[in-house]
Formats: sequence, structure tokens, C-alpha cells
Amino acid sequence: MQQDPSPGASLAMAAPRSAIRPVESAASPTCSACGGGDIRVFYRIEDVPAHSCLMLSTQEEARAFPRGEIELGFCKDCGFIGNLRFDAALHRYSPAYEETQAFSARFQSFLDEVWGEQIERFGLGPGMTALEIGCGKGEFLVGLCERSGCAGIGVDPGYRPERTRSSAAGRIRFIRDFYGPRYAHLHADYVCCRHTLEHIGPVLDFVRLVRATIGERRHVNVLFELPDMERVLQQGAFWDIYYEHCSYFTRGSLARLFRSSAFDVRRLYKVYDNQYLMLEAQPASRPTDALLPQENDLAHTASLIAGFEQKVGDRLQSLAEIFARCRASGRRLAIWGSGSKCVSLISALGLARDLGSGSLAIVDINPHKHGKFLAGSGFEILSPEALRCLQPDVVLVMNAIYTDEIRRDLASCSLHPELIAL
Ligand SMILES: [Zn+2]
Repeated sequence: MQQDPSPGASLAMAAPRSAIRPVESAASPTCSACGGGDIRVFYRIEDVPAHSCLMLSTQEEARAFPRGEIELGFCKDCGFIGNLRFDAALHRYSPAYEETQAFSARFQSFLDEVWGEQIERFGLGPGMTALEIGCGKGEFLVGLCERSGCAGIGVDPGYRPERTRSSAAGRIRFIRDFYGPRYAHLHADYVCCRHTLEHIGPVLDFVRLVRATIGERRHVNVLFELPDMERVLQQGAFWDIYYEHCSYFTRGSLARLFRSSAFDVRRLYKVYDNQYLMLEAQPASRPTDALLPQENDLAHTASLIAGFEQKVGDRLQSLAEIFARCRASGRRLAIWGSGSKCVSLISALGLARDLGSGSLAIVDINPHKHGKFLAGSGFEILSPEALRCLQPDVVLVMNAIYTDEIRRDLASCSLHPELIAL
């Protein structure tokens, strides 16, 4: 699933409450990152599939998949953005959840960079233990342990043991469960949590639990990686907003959450063409004060929120025109990347009506997805090789970072369609 921004981590902690949860009256929601009550609702989408990466075996099951609503609220006190309508009960994180991006060479080279940097910066090596909360299929943890010589503990309900083939497997323990207070005893020298926090509603409770797990072990370094909401707001990238993600952060709101949970935020930066946000922190004895200039983004985020609806409208219109032109001219279109962005786009543009017309195909390089069906619309996910028969005229690339890789993959199938990258 190379276009999806969630490489690790199904859900790490059962999240029974809304991202910004309503108080008793449900009239005035409070922020689950800071407890503030000054929330501005700025974006709504109705009737969206509750999951986008869960693999469904039949078209009927995919089309009947539970749906939910998205109503994004912006906390004026801390900048946190959450889905007020999030209902974790609709979610079914399990081994059938396919989030891995590891089949992409571009993504693999990104992982190589992160492994190298983290190992060097934090001196990870033999005798140390790395804990990954929400480890997904375990690729990141396994690579970290292989390269550093450290031991590992990975926690994720969606872990699949048969997929781990590694010389380091003997020193890695996987726990197929949601992370929660029952795992607060796990001791590690390094804690990472990648593309997981955005799936969790009660984010303050979660970060406090991570802090409690570390306890007095002050040498522990922590890495969190997640989608950057500043970019989504700047670009009107509505396809990056979907039901699975109930919590959205910019650098400032993420830092504020960690500082209020007794972490000292050491580094705060963006990677992967500014798509992902990285936070590195160490435990402190009490809440800490903002120190980094990039934490001061509250007014900037508020201004982006104000212009978001207009940007989304412009994006929707230009994309709808592309699809309309293809339909009118009989050109066949393929969407490359079947993850959350694709599900979100199909839902927003009402593309389910193209099902069965033969004019639209959905492609993914992850072989575990081939022959499965997209939640909501019911499109079958095809392999790149299947495009040889379909001969698409246009390929919509769901993440521009993969454009070169996709062009090469298409050329290897003797296909040279027009590529349009989001
Ligand atoms: Zn807040």
C-alpha cells in the first residue's frame, strides 16, 4: 500500500472515546489533547467508510462496510484537530489490516534513512531494548534490531508472525494486542510509535501512558512519527482526512501534547517530502515549557483552518473535471495506490458509480491486497501486471513521491499512460 501514509501500526490502544469528546450535554466538546473547550468545527464529511486498509474478501462485504461521519474540530487553545464524530466501536483492527508500504523501494529507502539516523543519534546497540508501540507487521522494529543489534518488543494486534524472516527474530518479542496499561511494565531504552497516534482518540491519556511506561528511566529516547496536518491544510489535501485517522497534529500541537505529559521535546522536524512529522523527546519530571521556534504555530494553524474549505472546494472541482473528461472521451483511468487516500478520494468524488463500467481500475503493488476489495466502494484491487490487459490511458498517482517509481513499474509492463500526481 505505497500511497498510504500509515506504514506502521494498526491501533496501539483501544480508543473508546471520540477524539474531541463531547461532555455530558454533547453541546460543548472538550479537546482530548488539552481539555480546552474552545473548539471550532471547520470541516464535515458524511457517510465515509470506517476503515480504509482493512482487506475485504467480497464485493458485497466491502460495499456493506460500516460507515461513519467526520466532523473536524480545531482546538483554539492547543491547536489539536480531531474528529468529533469518531466512534472507535466501528473499527476492527486485526491481522486483515494491510498498512505496510514496505513493497515500495522509495519507502524502503526512507526507512533506511530513519534506521541509520535513530541508531546513530541514540547509540542503539547490543544490550539495549527498543519498544515499538503499534508496530504493524514489524518491518521497522525488525530492521532496527537487525541493524543495531538491540533487542525488541513490538505491540500490535495486526502483527503477522509468518511475515517476519530475520536473523534478529530470536531477540524480538511480538505482542499481538492493543497497547494499554497492562503493558506499562515493559522496560525499554528506546520507545518508538510510528503512524499510530493519529488512530487514537484519547491522545492525552495515550501519551501519559507512554510516559508512565518509561517511569524513572530518564535515559529513554522516544520517537513519534505521524502525518503532518500543516501540509494537508496548506494544500487542501482532503484525501488525507479519513475515518481511521481521528487525531491530527501540526508540529506545535504535537509538542504541546508531549510537553504537558512531562516530556522534554528535543527535536521536531518533517520528513518524506514534508508529509510526516517527527518528534523526538526524553522524559522529564514535570511538564516542560516550549523551547523550539517551530512549536509557535497556533496563529498560523488558525489561519490555515480559515482557508481550508475553499482549498478543498478547488481541489474537488479540478479532480472532478479530470474524471469527467476521461468519461466523456472514453479514456480508461487507473488509480495507483489503494490505501486510505484512495478510499477517501473515491468517497469524496462519488466514484463508486464507475464500478463495473470498466473505465476505472484500482492498482496496488502490495501483493497481499490483490483480489481484495475496497471498503465502501467495492472496487477490486488489481496488481500492476493486470494493467497490461486494461491498458489505462491515465494513471492517477495518489502520492506524488512515488511518481518516478510508478513510471518505471508501468514502463516495465510496456505501459506509458499519462501520469497525474496528487
Ligand atoms: Zn486542545
